[in-house]
Amino acid sequence: MYSFEENIRKVEPYVPGEQPTGKVIKLNTNENPYPPAKGVTEALESMNTDLLRKYPDPTADILVKELADFYNVGEEQVFVGVGSDDVLSMCFLTFFNSDKPIFFPDITYSFYEVWANLYRIPYTCKELDKNFEIVPEDYYGENGGVIFPNPNAPTGLYQELDKVEDIIRHNPDVIVIVDEAYVDFAGESARSLIDKYDNLIVVQTFSKARSMAGMRIGYAISNPHLIKCLNDVKYSFNSYTMNQTSLVCGVEAVKDRAHFEETVHKIIETREWAKEELAKLGFEFLDSKANFIFAKHPEYDAKELFEAMKKENIYVRFWGSRRIEQYMRITIGTKEEMETMFSFLKRYMNK
Ligand code: PMP
Repeated sequence: MYSFEENIRKVEPYVPGEQPTGKVIKLNTNENPYPPAKGVTEALESMNTDLLRKYPDPTADILVKELADFYNVGEEQVFVGVGSDDVLSMCFLTFFNSDKPIFFPDITYSFYEVWANLYRIPYTCKELDKNFEIVPEDYYGENGGVIFPNPNAPTGLYQELDKVEDIIRHNPDVIVIVDEAYVDFAGESARSLIDKYDNLIVVQTFSKARSMAGMRIGYAISNPHLIKCLNDVKYSFNSYTMNQTSLVCGVEAVKDRAHFEETVHKIIETREWAKEELAKLGFEFLDSKANFIFAKHPEYDAKELFEAMKKENIYVRFWGSRRIEQYMRITIGTKEEMETMFSFLKRYMNK
């Protein structure tokens, strides 16, 4: 007998961090604790609502141009989408169509597995080493494409560019995507390699360093050929088009380089201070270069600690999954938010 159940595409869904309302200290989804650039607020306040009556420019030209200027690349080298999740998902659809498995790390951003399953892309996960580092050689074998974040999530570990380049160089026949959601807090971007390798795509976001997770803007930088391939796929999925408000505000965010640099600087400073405070409390943690720290305490159960923090309205991220059962991921908030968290932890640990 026919059953529609057989035809429904089923996946293990991605479970995002909680989005609690009310006055909480929210250190669970790697948002930026500082407001976006002033120009963004002003653009929203003075927005010409006649724009909303019209369809947005499907090629997002004004934002593409602003990003191209900012990064000193050609406009035909930039692709914009609704958050980097949208851009990455478009990359999976466009570039990972081989019978051979794509490679990505285990542990990493869990959306990669969701997209691979959703789009029926075969994949092989490559275990991190015992220090949670990506091992470049593991990515040299025959594959249908490679994707990894740099810094990796949720570890926060940044791979120096020569290691990233090794992976790109050993995979000349497939596309390599470097997901740089957190690179602004870390070090050099693989953008500097796009003229050297025709198989490289770098994906970045406005959600972290530019304080605009709620606006949903992400982008890819690559060579004109691969960017055209992305645009061709995108036009067939028109719902992925940027809305008018995001276009206008995105331009303002990119224009304000000083605000961007100052915000990033403050977060890095607080991150390094937070590492010292965690160490004083006996936490073990990785040397994150992102806007979060992946930490565990040898004497306290992570789930209990996570629940206790939640009762105090301090939200961090906890998964309880294999190999990271005892880890929590703490987003870097403002210095004040972090101080509140540390004073709670001190009380909890009687220190
Ligand atoms: N890549 C990584 C590694 C991430 O952690 C995230 C967000 N959590 C994203 C991509 C997606 O970010 P967005 O869609 O907000 O740009």
